[in-house]
Amino acid sequence: MVRIVKYAKPYVGMILFAIALLFAQVNLDLLLPDYMSNIVDTGIQHGGVESSAPIAYSQEQMFYTSLFWDNETESMVFGYYTLLDNSSENYDEYVNDYPLLENQSVYVLNNLRRKDKTDLYQNMTKAILASFAINQIILNPEMAIERGFDIGFNITSWDNITTLPLSVRSMIAEGIYDSFSALGESWIDQITVTAIRAEYISVGMDMDKLQRNYILRVGAFMLLFTLLSVVCTIFVGYFASQVAARMARDVRYDVFEKVEGFSSTEFDKYSTASLITRSTNDVTQLQMVIFFLIRLVAFAPLMGIGGIIRALGKAQSMWWIIALAVLILIGLVMITFAVGYPKFKSMQILIDRLNLVAREHLSGIMVIRAFNRQKFEEKRFDKANLDLTKVTLFTNRIIVILMPMMMLIMNGLTIGIIWVGGHEIADATMQVGDLMAFLTYAMQIVMSFLMISVMFIILPRASVSATRIREVLNTEPIINDPIKPKTFSKPPQGLIEFRNVSFRYPKGEEDALHSISFTAKPGETTALIGATGSGKSTLVNLIPRFYDISSGEILIDGIDIRDITQDDLRKQIGYVPQKNTLFSGTIESNMRYANENADQELIQSVIEIAQAKQFIESSSEGFSRAISQGGSNVSGGQKQRLSIARALIRQSPILIFDDSFSALDFKTDAALRRALKKYIGDCTVLIVTQRVSTVMYAEQIIVLEEGKIVGKGTHNELLKTCETYREIAFSQLKEDALS
Ligand code: ADP
Ligand code: MG
Repeated sequence: MVRIVKYAKPYVGMILFAIALLFAQVNLDLLLPDYMSNIVDTGIQHGGVESSAPIAYSQEQMFYTSLFWDNETESMVFGYYTLLDNSSENYDEYVNDYPLLENQSVYVLNNLRRKDKTDLYQNMTKAILASFAINQIILNPEMAIERGFDIGFNITSWDNITTLPLSVRSMIAEGIYDSFSALGESWIDQITVTAIRAEYISVGMDMDKLQRNYILRVGAFMLLFTLLSVVCTIFVGYFASQVAARMARDVRYDVFEKVEGFSSTEFDKYSTASLITRSTNDVTQLQMVIFFLIRLVAFAPLMGIGGIIRALGKAQSMWWIIALAVLILIGLVMITFAVGYPKFKSMQILIDRLNLVAREHLSGIMVIRAFNRQKFEEKRFDKANLDLTKVTLFTNRIIVILMPMMMLIMNGLTIGIIWVGGHEIADATMQVGDLMAFLTYAMQIVMSFLMISVMFIILPRASVSATRIREVLNTEPIINDPIKPKTFSKPPQGLIEFRNVSFRYPKGEEDALHSISFTAKPGETTALIGATGSGKSTLVNLIPRFYDISSGEILIDGIDIRDITQDDLRKQIGYVPQKNTLFSGTIESNMRYANENADQELIQSVIEIAQAKQFIESSSEGFSRAISQGGSNVSGGQKQRLSIARALIRQSPILIFDDSFSALDFKTDAALRRALKKYIGDCTVLIVTQRVSTVMYAEQIIVLEEGKIVGKGTHNELLKTCETYREIAFSQLKEDALS
């Protein structure tokens, strides 16, 4: 993963921005349950009367209440209120809101900040409670005592109180407060709100309007927060997918670039199918996990922790229910991880395998049909397919089982909270709204754990993918350019010299070439002949450095080919591989592949030499005739001729033909060789073949057998000196044609 993290660097800004948005989203989401609990408790249960300083107070009741304040509190409270009467300006407006104004003066709360209101409320609570309790006792002593408003001695009117000294009045207020607080903190709040509510009614305020306004106001805030949260979610999603897609693009690019630099040794190590899976499916896995990481990695823990803190703020007594649920959830996630990880690992390998079989099947479809092996191939595919299906099903089952388990825990949690909370509400130690908020927080906590568990499901798979990608990125190609490359003299001669060259394939058990030494001179044709498997292709593949030799030296113009950049080296070589490849495009695009700047004249001349002119011109499309992928829509011989033309168009001093005339009929072969002879001039030509007729006129013939040179010389010399050559020659030519 570490290596992949590097790819996040260019996008740090975007990621941080997304995280900031997530932070905002979490806070908005966590605000909602609080507001909901306000709607339930204050809006519905208390008719919209907030536990805050009362907004209106009749002069009479304010007087009674003030009996329980010391001078300091009294002047503070009166500082916050304005006394209105029928002579005040705007009387007409006020009387609408506070009809009591018609007969009595009314104190109206000034415009205060929320905090000041709450502070004021704290200071007023005891007095409000006391004056309310005494009102109740005066109104209906029996009922008041039944409801707990007992101050221990008989009161029949306010006169009994006003005559008492302040110290006694304070004691009375203290006593009433204590008897309520003994019942629980939330009781005081509820009774105070009831008292304020009673006062509002006596002032004549429109209680329906008050309630409606409160609910609408809080509801509007909830709506606003939800909208903001949605906006955050959308932007986070946008940035997360941007970052993920861009990082995936960068990784894919690097993998592709790396693979381009691979020599045949590295290609032998990874199968083509595996390289394809690694740069597609594995990168996609990574992309997915980056997306989720950005969206969840900050969100889930913030939500979980924030939820826990706020839930405990609402109802501390129920912490153990949440703790229990969280413990079970963690256990569940751990088990999933332990069971899932190995399976996810094997999944990517199985996808490799499936790709391999499918690729082989598709590219070999002709052979498969010719040998009626469809059934066999189907079975092979079926097996790979089934294996993958099994693992996929298994992992899906884990996920499928996980979900209902999570739901079970969630519902269990709900029942537990409602059960315990229900009792607390019955005991009046908790309010309904708080329970609802607690429930919502609990759900948010569980959801955050769910998200984390989703992470644990996709992380293993992605970490497998990351490892596989890293493997490719960390593979250092064996064949590298020298640090201080030498350059060829201009123009290069193309003199090739093998000195004691031995070579073994990376996975080979023995050397494919043993102590090869020879010189191929400019202006001459050097032919390599030998049975299949004798090492001819191996030998010529060493010249463009497709593989590096195990010992000895290969020199071109006296410079070791390992001292030259691969680019420079390969520029000097026109190479026609044994296994030709044409690319999808047109004939012309394939020609220009070797030399972008080739002019029409050059193209014409090389196709003439390669004997391709006739078949190109026989088609009405000529040079723009389409070539399909791999050159599958031209015949083997046509493909060979186009490949030869492509090599010639490079105009390089060295030409290598690896069995390039095998698909040509003898007549074309002869014509091509004649034309080539005229064209090559000073070029060094290496021709690999099994046909004696092709090599007869070469200046030098090298006979290979089991990776060793068993003969070197001209046709006539070899006929006399080399037994192997003679055998090959006799098997191919009539005796009289040999001399
Ligand atoms: P020729 O071209 O003369 O028919 P090659 O040069 O293709 O023969 O092969 C020479 C030997 O090297 C053969 O025995 C073959 O099995 C082996 N060989 C060829 N390619 C590889 C490879 N990529 N890895 C291992 N061994 C190889
Ligand atoms: Mg070969």
